[in-house]
This record gives sequence, C-alpha cells and structure tokens, in this order.
Amino acid sequence: MVTSDCLFCRIVKGDLPATVVHETATTLAFRDIGPKAPVHVLVIPKEHHADVAALAAADSGLAGEVLAAAAAVAEEEGLTGGGFRVIFNTGEHGGQEVFHVHAHVLGGRALGPMVSA
Ligand code: 5GP
Ligand code: ZN
Repeated sequence: MVTSDCLFCRIVKGDLPATVVHETATTLAFRDIGPKAPVHVLVIPKEHHADVAALAAADSGLAGEVLAAAAAVAEEEGLTGGGFRVIFNTGEHGGQEVFHVHAHVLGGRALGPMVSA
C-alpha cells in the first residue's frame, strides 16, 4: 500500500477533510462519516499500519498510544459513566474496509449484543 492511496493517510496529511476531536503527536481521532451510534469516533496512528496485528507487531508502544487516545476520546465525549465500546475490525471476517488501523469508539446509548448472529 502506497500511503498516498490510503484514505486515512490522506486525512492525516490534510488532503481530505475530517472532523477531528482529539490529536496527539502520534495519533488522530475524528468522527466516523457514517456514525453507528450517537458517538462514533475513529482513532488512528498517524503512521500507516494496515491493521491492529501489524501495528502491535511493528510498534507496541504506538499501539498503546492509540488505546490511550481512545480512552481520552471516551472521556472527552462523556462516555465513561455510561460505558462505551472499542472495536478494531480486522481482515475479511472482521469486516475491515479501510486498511489503515483504526479503533472505533462507540457510545452514547446501550449498544446491544457485541455481534449479531
Ligand atoms: P472498518 O469497516 O474498516 O472497520 O471501518 C471503516 C470506517 O471508516 C467505517 O465506519 C466508515 O464509515 C468510515 N469511513 C469511510 N470513509 C470515511 C471518510 O472518508 N471519512 C470518515 N470520517 N470516515 C470514513
Ligand atoms: Zn494509511
């Protein structure tokens, strides 16, 4: 993957617009374009890694920074009282569509069963 072809690398570079809600030196968090819950934020490392397994293998410290950013987003979006869900869809069975690792942070209502049958 050439990163200039990657949707989320283009958002990091500022070539595509996004509603950014949280940013650190190494991570970016922005609202999902098709929200599945009242709060639906995507948290990514600015550096391109295809999925959570590749990220963890390449840089476990950066993986931790993505998790810390997800927790900060949950706090800032007012989700910590009611609870929330963090999801890394991975690969075909995981339903991953964008191959730049991203944590979905979802909340703002009871989210129901973890997966449908
Ligand atoms: P995945 O299925 O790969 O886990 O999730 C990809 C997510 O990216 C989807 O929830 C989709 O709505 C979101 N998405 C796709 N294109 C864009 C975009 O251009 N901007 C934003 N903010 N989200 C996007
Ligand atoms: Zn990328």
